[in-house]
Amino acid sequence: MNITVYLGANEGNDPTLREAVAELGTWIGSSGNRLIYGGSKCGLMGVLAENVIKAGGEAIGVEPQFFIDEELQYDELTELIVTKDMPERKAKMIELGDAFIAFPGGTGTLEEISEIMAMVSLGHLDAPCILYNLDGYYDSLKAFMNKMIEKGLSTVERQKGITFASTLDEIREILS
Ligand code: AMP
Repeated sequence: MNITVYLGANEGNDPTLREAVAELGTWIGSSGNRLIYGGSKCGLMGVLAENVIKAGGEAIGVEPQFFIDEELQYDELTELIVTKDMPERKAKMIELGDAFIAFPGGTGTLEEISEIMAMVSLGHLDAPCILYNLDGYYDSLKAFMNKMIEKGLSTVERQKGITFASTLDEIREILS
């Protein structure tokens, strides 16, 4: 399975993030799945790719040209797909993914996973959409999603394919 992971281009200030992303990468790399991600060597993105490769797996980066110009790409990737801009990159990452995970990240991660949530909700994408709610990172998003339902602006049915998982074991369970 191709697993597209969106996550922070920064490392954050909580060592748990690094540990958990390394664990996620090791699992993807050792389980016969393939990582699709943004292609950079920086922050949590780099730690993820490094651990997939270290575990003997394949990591495919999808990086827009302007990040390559800044030499942000991770050089040891199985494959680096260069796109002309961000919209092309996002489309490619969706096209390649069989499942989508948002690890904790910033606005970039939120933007990317929001597109997946909207597509799943509209029935335009039939794939697991998982928010990795490590230490409650996405609790406020979860509450917001419930608020949408409460106010009649979304439905349980529309949010059916979107799940919040607190642990890697839960993610493995969802994808099994
Ligand atoms: P953020 O969550 O704001 O750190 O942004 C990370 C997400 O946005 C990743 O999933 C990337 O696809 C994209 N992104 C933002 N900044 C970078 C970067 N320096 N290199 C590669 N991708 C980035």
